[in-house]
Amino acid sequence: MITAQTVVLGIIGHPIGHSFSPQIHNYFARIFRQQACYAAFNVLPEHLGEAVAGAHSLGIKGLNVTIPHKQTCIDFLSRVDKTARRIAAVNTLVYEQDGYAGYNTDHIGMYMALKAAGIDIRGKSAVIIGAGGTACAACVMAADKGAMEITIANRTLEKAELLADRLKGFFNMPITAVPLSVINDIAHKDIVIQTTSVGMNYPEDCLIESAGFFRGVSAALELIYNPWETKFVKMAKLNHIQALNGFSTLVYQAAASFELWMGINLTEGFLKQAAADLESLAKQA
Ligand code: NAP
Repeated sequence: MITAQTVVLGIIGHPIGHSFSPQIHNYFARIFRQQACYAAFNVLPEHLGEAVAGAHSLGIKGLNVTIPHKQTCIDFLSRVDKTARRIAAVNTLVYEQDGYAGYNTDHIGMYMALKAAGIDIRGKSAVIIGAGGTACAACVMAADKGAMEITIANRTLEKAELLADRLKGFFNMPITAVPLSVINDIAHKDIVIQTTSVGMNYPEDCLIESAGFFRGVSAALELIYNPWETKFVKMAKLNHIQALNGFSTLVYQAAASFELWMGINLTEGFLKQAAADLESLAKQA
């Protein structure tokens, strides 16, 4: 029951009608017996500053931030956590007296999704497809968790080069930028993380044209979960590669946000069960 003590949480983005985050967080609140409720707010880019200030004035304890506000939102925060600064994007705001503190839990979501599937990135060669905000989070996760080398493949080579140069300022490891046109020639590729939105609206679209790309790959993670299996995931599976869609990343990044807001620790065992329950819910939706 919603009372005057209920903690109010939510997500800001534009558009936001497709978001599955309210189902996930309201499920967490119910299962964990937390007096919290979570709603979705459609915030136009030109209203972002007012929305963040207004939410703070209302005492909204936590917000998720999604496309297109993850980078621009930083201008309206009182402080930004170190990893989020490296990623240059936030997806979680936590209420503090002077304003919101910004965090990024996407890198935690990706790491936990790999871990839950028994995939260890330590010592591996990682290929990140894309050079946007999510690609940056994937690179920071791979570097933080001990990948041996990172190759960033992007349609616009300049963006991949900029990202690689920025990351080299934080991490002392081989980070290379290549154009998508040479993706089949990447020699070392144990784990591939597909971070672009290609395949989301048109499931038959895929940046990988030849099955030969998957030679040498042991695991693939894609960030899209709608449709449940894109052509990328289907191709990987056909080539006998362990392939994950973006749903477990979504659940684990949400769990990390929920922990920050509510000051609790969700156990790995519980989260595995939650991810399975939420998967059935998502498939029914
Ligand atoms: P972004 O910053 O806009 O970056 C988009 C990337 O996709 C860029 O590298 C862009 O290449 C590339 N791209 C877009 N259209 C392309 C096309 N037709 N051909 C080749 N490359 C193309 O977006 P983002 O914030 O990183 O988000 C990317 C995706 O991740 C979205 O689908 C988002 O929903 C998903 N996501 C999922 C989760 C989850 O929990 N599952 C979490 C975060 C994000 P250029 O640089 O050449 O333009």
